[in-house]
Amino acid sequence: MLSPDIKNEISQKIIASRQIAILTGAGISAESGIPTFRGNGGHWKNFRAEELATPDAFRRDPKLVWEWYEMRRSICKKSLPNPGHIAIAELEKQNSSKKFHLFTQNVDGLHRQAGSKKLTELHGNIFTGRCTKCNHIEENLDTPLSTLPPPCPQCSSPMRPHILWFGETYDPKMLENSIEFLRNSDLILIIGTSGQVTVPVYLAQEAIQAGAFSVEINPEESTLTSSVDISLRGKSGEILPQII
Ligand code: NAD
Ligand code: ZN
Repeated sequence: MLSPDIKNEISQKIIASRQIAILTGAGISAESGIPTFRGNGGHWKNFRAEELATPDAFRRDPKLVWEWYEMRRSICKKSLPNPGHIAIAELEKQNSSKKFHLFTQNVDGLHRQAGSKKLTELHGNIFTGRCTKCNHIEENLDTPLSTLPPPCPQCSSPMRPHILWFGETYDPKMLENSIEFLRNSDLILIIGTSGQVTVPVYLAQEAIQAGAFSVEINPEESTLTSSVDISLRGKSGEILPQII
């Protein structure tokens, strides 16, 4: 349980804020049963995520990469939002008169399922594919897929997951809008991210350096821990409902 003083301090900051930013990582979905990359369960057939979620891995063996995504898609499809996702959706509703935005590194779709609307999926969505030839984008919730890689419905070329892989560049417009929002935020909650991926860390630092009050929630320390005002050690599904 959080101390009443900490709860009170964070509640007061939420009430006083004009613009709220949230950054989430794989940790917020851990309690929904979706493994993080860097925790236990981040390996598959002796491959690390960093060896599979890359354009090179897909060029070498598209079927292998799709098989890994099939395994992850089936886990995501079975998973439900947990009290952490639900608390964030509730925070958005409670602050509908303010500027509010949720930036997630997660691809599992659970924030949307929990009811979050002002949302940017920085790394894409696991249920969306993109044609390697004509760039057609299509949502596909079927799992298992009948053919791997699935063929493009427009031109029959192989589709790839519509996900930002290691070594790929972010959409510049999305990045520009995100930076703008974070620089103008006066409160940021950083939840369940180890802070190993450069751009999300940079986004959080933009808000912190611009003077936003910053709260981290993570059972372990992250690369952002030393930069935040309050770092709460614990699970987001247990802590978020206490402060929201
Ligand atoms: P990460 O795997 O590097 O780190 C996860 C963090 O979550 C760790 O710091 C861990 O201590 C913390 N954590 C574990 N359980 C938690 C809990 N119950 N509550 C709060 N925090 C908890 O994840 P990352 O920083 O998001 O970076 C990994 C990359 O992997 C991202 O780009 C993301 O797109 C991708 N990814 C996404 C999913 C998903 O969509 N659910 C799952 C795995 C990886
Ligand atoms: Zn196509």
